[in-house]
Amino acid sequence: MTKVAVVTGGTRGIGEAISTQLKAMGYSVAAIYAGNDERAQAFSHRTGIEAFKWDVGNHQACLDGCAAVSESLGPIDIVVNNAGITRDGVLFKMSFEDWNEVMRINLGGCFNMAKAAFGGMRERGWGRIVNIGSVNGQAGQYGQVNYAAAKSGIHGFTKALAQEGAKYGVTVNAIAPGYIDTDMVSAVPAPVLEKIVAKIPVGRLGQADEIARGVAFLCSDAAAFITGSTLSINGGQHMY
Ligand code: NDP
Repeated sequence: MTKVAVVTGGTRGIGEAISTQLKAMGYSVAAIYAGNDERAQAFSHRTGIEAFKWDVGNHQACLDGCAAVSESLGPIDIVVNNAGITRDGVLFKMSFEDWNEVMRINLGGCFNMAKAAFGGMRERGWGRIVNIGSVNGQAGQYGQVNYAAAKSGIHGFTKALAQEGAKYGVTVNAIAPGYIDTDMVSAVPAPVLEKIVAKIPVGRLGQADEIARGVAFLCSDAAAFITGSTLSINGGQHMY
């Protein structure tokens, strides 16, 4: 049976590369997005992958959305929790809303999606959950207490859920990307980005495909013995 994969934030950036990579492996893919209809429609047109719109920070929306995906494509075998946002600012300028929104979407989204899909994976005895963390969750980053805390939380969430899934054939892993050339990074001011790239040993930003290949491996049968692990893909920026 064709396996069904759900990729949150799957319509652009790293998520688009993950969606297309999983489709190329023969999986049926649903790409979730938040609100950018134009980008999502262009993505679906280009790739033939169905896009579904819901907010991963909304618990009920994830339950309903995953039910709709299952109805359309079949039971969900793979979840890639990739959707994420930034609301950067130093602590004394960061509002509670900026803190809360990043925690709600980046970390809460992982919980909500796992609640929707983990039970079915467990019952069927096979599943893959891959959570996209960040080098900034491992090392911290000035002006990102919200983002670093949420991403760091993802790494703990991954290790805890991996223990629950192991005996049911459900692996749970994380990938911690370094700086990848997407819309999110193009929002970083050029002088700041220059300083960041200067600290990356390979001397360049990563490409979305370089993250997608890691996700594809962790989703494959070849990775059945890997669970609770974090794969750093960061050009040597942080050796953890
Ligand atoms: P982008 O900003 O390019 O794309 C974000 C995607 O997430 C979009 O598809 C967006 O949908 C979707 N999304 C955002 N909020 C929600 C939500 N509430 N519900 C559903 N979907 C949502 O991000 P990147 O590709 O750069 O990053 C992808 C992931 O990788 C993120 O988790 C990010 O934190 C992480 N990461 C990125 C790094 C980088 O250097 N780029 C480095 C380390 C980690 P829409 O198009 O509708 O807005």
